[in-house]
Amino acid sequence: MKVIRAKAMGMCFGVRDALAMMRALPNPQEVTVYGELVHNPEILNEIAQRGMTMLSETQRVLPLSKAVVITAHGVSLQEKRQLAQRAEQVYDTTCPLVQRVHQQALALQNSGYFIIVIGKPSHVEVKGLIGDLQAYTVVETLADVQSYSHQLLGVVSQTTTPPDLAQAIVQAIRDHNPAAQVKYIDTICKPTRDRQVALTELFKQVDAMVVVGGAHSNNTRQLTERCRRCQLPCLQVQNEQELPKEWFFPYQVVGVTAGTSTLDSTIDKVCQTLEGKVETKRFF
Ligand code: SF4
Repeated sequence: MKVIRAKAMGMCFGVRDALAMMRALPNPQEVTVYGELVHNPEILNEIAQRGMTMLSETQRVLPLSKAVVITAHGVSLQEKRQLAQRAEQVYDTTCPLVQRVHQQALALQNSGYFIIVIGKPSHVEVKGLIGDLQAYTVVETLADVQSYSHQLLGVVSQTTTPPDLAQAIVQAIRDHNPAAQVKYIDTICKPTRDRQVALTELFKQVDAMVVVGGAHSNNTRQLTERCRRCQLPCLQVQNEQELPKEWFFPYQVVGVTAGTSTLDSTIDKVCQTLEGKVETKRFF
């Protein structure tokens, strides 16, 4: 089987920096990670091995430990203040591109705009963003778009939103609100955009795709959905152990891409397994 790797894939600088900071922290037993540092099971396992406490994303409560780590997805300013009051030390690994979304949304709000966030309402990045806003709504799909009772509509998006979805939603907002002034600030991060473009470039060269990434990773899921929308056979796996050999029988050329929290070593093992260079239990 021939394997073609996407030109841009895998771990982004935001996740890499968060991981580097986490690995350098002294006294890990005294550290609580405020949510999943990244949506990658191998990294989450590493955090547990180091003795850190990690809160689940659905049950984030103010920690009692000496130090707390804010994840790359960020939190609201209000939440950050509460964490600073509770812990002696706050390590903030919020990605600068997430911080930029907060800054842009607040600037729009301060200019009198009603904020429309394109994104997944339950995602921690979106929760952190709307935590600082007073008048806002979150739009996940085209069907969520409405006619709003505001003249000024400011639109930002979750960093991992597929660019074509964001464009379609912005157009729908304009169509539903012809009298409003709609200001869209493109806050999709470059690594997400690059991975989506690189995936599209692969479509004409491959028979099927493998997307490597955490089951809870939003941008990994978006890559998978893009393949499915283009009706390309696609398998999403967390690692090489999840590759079922029988699935690949019909395919000669398989493309590989990966979400922004996937380790290079995991991508390498998936590619090597597909190429028959290493054996895994399920694949041979
Ligand atoms: S996916 Fe984008 S916004 Fe999120 S951590 Fe990576 S670079 Fe930052």
